[in-house]
Amino acid sequence: MADRQDLRPPTQVLTRGFDPSLSVGSARPAVFRSSTYVFPSPEAAERAFDLVAGRAQPDSGEQPDLIYSRFNHPNAEILEERLVPLETGAHAALVFNSGMAAIMTALFTFARPGQSILYTVPIYGGTQHLIEDFLSTLGIGGIPVEAGRTGEMDSAIRSAKDLAIVLIETPANPTIVMTDIRHATDAVAHLKPKPLVMVDNTLLGPTFQHPLQLGADLSLYSATKYLSGLSDFIAGAAIASDPKLIRQMRSKRNLFGNILQPDECWMLEGRLPTVTLRMNRSSKNAERIAVRLANHPKISRVLYPTLFTDPEQLQIARNQCDFPGGMLSIDLRGGKKAAFEFLRSLRIARNAVSLGGVETLVCHPKTTTHSGFTEEEFAAAGVTDGLVRISIGIEDWRDLMADFEQALDLI
Ligand SMILES: *Cc1c(COP(=O)(O)O)cnc(C)c1O
Repeated sequence: MADRQDLRPPTQVLTRGFDPSLSVGSARPAVFRSSTYVFPSPEAAERAFDLVAGRAQPDSGEQPDLIYSRFNHPNAEILEERLVPLETGAHAALVFNSGMAAIMTALFTFARPGQSILYTVPIYGGTQHLIEDFLSTLGIGGIPVEAGRTGEMDSAIRSAKDLAIVLIETPANPTIVMTDIRHATDAVAHLKPKPLVMVDNTLLGPTFQHPLQLGADLSLYSATKYLSGLSDFIAGAAIASDPKLIRQMRSKRNLFGNILQPDECWMLEGRLPTVTLRMNRSSKNAERIAVRLANHPKISRVLYPTLFTDPEQLQIARNQCDFPGGMLSIDLRGGKKAAFEFLRSLRIARNAVSLGGVETLVCHPKTTTHSGFTEEEFAAAGVTDGLVRISIGIEDWRDLMADFEQALDLI
C-alpha cells in the first residue's frame, strides 16, 4: 500500500517506506533509538549476518532483520526510501551524519591509491582539503579544473592518469559559476573503466537540478542545507540510480560508523515534503531581489543565474536548472570595508556561514568560508574583497529588500 511506485514524487515523499502498523499505528514514524535489535531465532541472526556481510543475497520480498544501528535502523530506512522520489532518476539513497561524511565515503569507496579524482574549483573547502591534504597522502591524486571551463575539463579528462572520479560542484560557491553536467558525463562515457561522475547537488538540488537524469552516477548532499532547511542539525546523503553503488557505499558506512542517528533521521524525514515548497519560495525571493540589487550604485555586480551574460553560462543554466535558486552573491564597490559595514548594518538577514535555511544568511567569503585560499585562488575564483554571499530564505522578499537597501545606504 505504502510503496505504490506509480504515485508522483510529492505524494511518494509522504507515503513511501513507512508502515504505521510497525509504529503501533502512529501516523508519524516512531523514533527507534535502540542500538541493537532482538532476533526472532538464532537462525534469523545467522541469516541477518550473512546478508549484511554480502555472503548471501536477499530472496525476493525478503526484508533483512535489523542487527545493530551502526549498520541500519528503521528511521534511516524510512528516510532513505523517501529521499528516492525527490531526486529524479534515483533508485537508492544512503544517509550520513554530515555532508562531508557522504562525500568522504563516496571518495573512499570508489578511489584507490594510484588513481585520480578530477574536481571543479572553487569547491566546498572541506572537500578540497580532503582531496588535497588527505587523499593525496594515500596516493590518490587531485586534479582541479576551473568551474564552467568545458574545454579545460575535456582535456583534463583526456590526460588524467587512471581517473576514478569526476566530482562536480555546480553552481560553484560563492561565484554561482555553472559546470555542464551532461557534457562531463558524455566526456567519460567512452572511457574504460568508466570513471564515476559525482555531483555535489547541495545548492540547487533536489528541486531545481537533476544530475542523475543527466547521466551522473551519484548525487551528493549536505542535507544540513535545503533538505533540512532549519539550520538546526548536520546531515548528508548520497543518491544513485544504480543501487549497486549504494550497496558498495553502505558496506563502507558500516565500517566508518557515519550513519545518521535516529533522531536526526526522523527530523529530516519530516522536512522532506516541504523541500520543494521552501526552495521555490526562496528562489522566487532571490530572483526578485537579485534583479533589483543589480542596478544599485554601490554594487558593481550581482552573481545570479538570471543575470548571467556569458552565453555558455546562460545555456548551461537554461539546460540544467529548472529555476535559478536561492543563492546569490553581490560585489560591493567599496571592497572589504563596505562589505563589513553592510554585514554590520543588516537587521533581518543574519551574518552566518551555511545556507539553505528558511532564514536569510549572509557572509563574507574572502575572510570566512574561503579564507584558506591563496591570492591566485582568489583571483581565479573571482572571490573579491567586496564579495558578499547571500542565502535567501522564505521571509517576505520586500522586507529583505528594505533590509538590504538600508544597509547599503549606511555604507
Ligand atoms: C555545507 C556543504 C558541504 C558540507 O556539508 P556538512 O553537512 O557541513 O558536512 C558540502 N558541500 C557543499 C556545497 C556545502 O554547502
